[in-house]
Amino acid sequence: MAVYTRSREEIEKIRAAAQLVGMTLRELGRSLRPGITTAELDALAETFIRDHGGRPAFKGYRGFPASICPSVNEEVVHGIPGPRVLREGDLVGIDVGVELNSYYGDAAWTFGVGPVSAEAERLMQVTRESLMLGIAQARPGNRVGDISNAVQSYVEREGFSVVRALVGHGIGREMHEEPAVPNFGPPGRGPRLMTGYVLAIEPMVNVGGPDVETRSDGWTVATKDGTLSAHFEHTVAVGPDGPEILSELLDHEDRG
Ligand code: MG
Repeated sequence: MAVYTRSREEIEKIRAAAQLVGMTLRELGRSLRPGITTAELDALAETFIRDHGGRPAFKGYRGFPASICPSVNEEVVHGIPGPRVLREGDLVGIDVGVELNSYYGDAAWTFGVGPVSAEAERLMQVTRESLMLGIAQARPGNRVGDISNAVQSYVEREGFSVVRALVGHGIGREMHEEPAVPNFGPPGRGPRLMTGYVLAIEPMVNVGGPDVETRSDGWTVATKDGTLSAHFEHTVAVGPDGPEILSELLDHEDRG
């Protein structure tokens, strides 16, 4: 499958979808509180996305039943919304995808529910920083492996591990396009990045080992050793002068 180079016009359409994802995550962050259920967060997200003219891209994707993937504590990604009540001290990663005017955006953020442990704070900080270091490598002439290696080397230097089983991806007219964007591996390898590539870069970082397992619901991926995991993701365009974060909308005060 080919990797697409998007025109400026297309990148602006992807940006519109990705900004709606960012706005949705900001809304969810503001609504998060002990006592809310993940199903309530999902309903908020679906209403917000549709009110802004978008379609929740996860809903119906390979049969997924909801608009967001909330993943709590040792859950890594692909959690299913339901009656689970969030408690003070929980970490919840929320992944959101939107289709708007035939283009896709995809982003994720991990929030603390009220105050969280010092270890959880550090995990969120390291994961978010690893995303930013990966994004910084999304420049024309670099290779995908430069992104991967920037994420992995930082995370491991901080004493955590990156998940290998799931990777980032190209995005544009489909939610998942080529190339795969692993969060591990040597620099200088993989496809060469060109102006106009649009990538969803999404480190998943565990406090313990990198291994994960899929639960019996067929979706929820959790750490094998039961340790905490965090996930941050942005939709990023490779611009002529460097990366452009298309889903950027969240800032420090929204970090829950
Ligand atoms: Mg993604």
